[in-house]
Amino acid sequence: MKVGIVGAGLGGLLAGAYLSSEGFEVEIFEKLPFAGGRFTSMNYRGYEISTGALHMIPHGRRGPLGRMLKELGCDVEIVDSKPEGEILWNGEREMLTRKSFSWFDVLRLNIEFFMNKLGRKRTLEEFARGLSEKSYLYVRSFLGWSFSIFPEQMMFEKIVPIFRRTEVYGGPGVPVGGCKAVTESLVEIIESSSGRVHLRKEVKAIKSGEKAKFILEKEKKEYDLVISDVGHRITSELLGEELGNHPSESRGVKYTIAIDEPFIGHTGVLFVLGKNIAGMNEVTNADENLGRKHMLQVHQPLRNGSREEIIRGLRDIKEILRGYSFEVLAVQSYRGDWPVNRVMAGMDMGNRTRHDNIFVVGDGAKGEDIEVDGIALGVENVLEALL
Ligand code: AMP
Repeated sequence: MKVGIVGAGLGGLLAGAYLSSEGFEVEIFEKLPFAGGRFTSMNYRGYEISTGALHMIPHGRRGPLGRMLKELGCDVEIVDSKPEGEILWNGEREMLTRKSFSWFDVLRLNIEFFMNKLGRKRTLEEFARGLSEKSYLYVRSFLGWSFSIFPEQMMFEKIVPIFRRTEVYGGPGVPVGGCKAVTESLVEIIESSSGRVHLRKEVKAIKSGEKAKFILEKEKKEYDLVISDVGHRITSELLGEELGNHPSESRGVKYTIAIDEPFIGHTGVLFVLGKNIAGMNEVTNADENLGRKHMLQVHQPLRNGSREEIIRGLRDIKEILRGYSFEVLAVQSYRGDWPVNRVMAGMDMGNRTRHDNIFVVGDGAKGEDIEVDGIALGVENVLEALL
């Protein structure tokens, strides 16, 4: 069976790796000169600057992506974060444990889970406003870091499955070699099972039918099955179809900082409370080869993506890193066709299209989990339908 995949981002490559190992004839078309989309990196002055995502897998080795990479025999080591997190609030740092929050706030959370089961519909903002200041700010910072959203943008019920998964799988991990190690090893698997990844080849249109066709610059290609890794909106544009309402994207900015001495000093996330930036991790503590010295990745959710918002984030960084010798290597702002998330967390649109032989994977068609672990679950849904 011939499979054509649009886009060599993580979703396209993961689907391609499984299907080519199962004997499908896989061809992936990528318009850029490199594979990996938002999940790879470029070396700049000795630092692996990720193209999009952080060098991080939300549930580390044990989560859906870690499990699938292992099943595929990918040669990638994932260093699970220890501790999972720390909080920075009012200049004080504190390890994140259950004891970080008052029993009253924990009780409120459990009541909200119960009320949610009974049908209460509230945004996370409405819920979190009833908590102590510290817990409220933590909710903001967690959502900003993990989903690039503000609490009024997400319903409480959307967080429930993700919260449960975090209880099962635990916190994040850093792939040794960064995002690039993951996507490069998927390309290797595809090519060693005679699949092909064509770079600099843009799919200009998709024609539906019993055999779906890709229209490229100078050629047409025919497939039994098409998988699109470019989200529902661009996929329907390629099909020349109206999609109707599309949920909003989430925007954000990532600052990559070179720092002479470690600031965080461990492999976990430092959640920053009460600031414009939501958090940071120091990935060189998990893999020293990711940077010539130490490297911090700082993330901030954006409302409108204005210069002022970004300047406020840079001011936060300057204040927090006062006394350290550091340099801002990159400021990457994600929106438009390169958002943080093609649709806001919890609004993903499933993997099917109106055509039986055309599926969407990747961001915007995630399963019920965070970021790349959600992408892995979305790919798994498609594989279940096909295998
Ligand atoms: P990501 O942004 O990580 O989800 O990956 C999606 C990938 O699809 C990126 O590497 C894009 O460059 C690629 N892409 C987007 N549109 C097209 C297209 N029409 N043809 C081929 N590749 C595409």
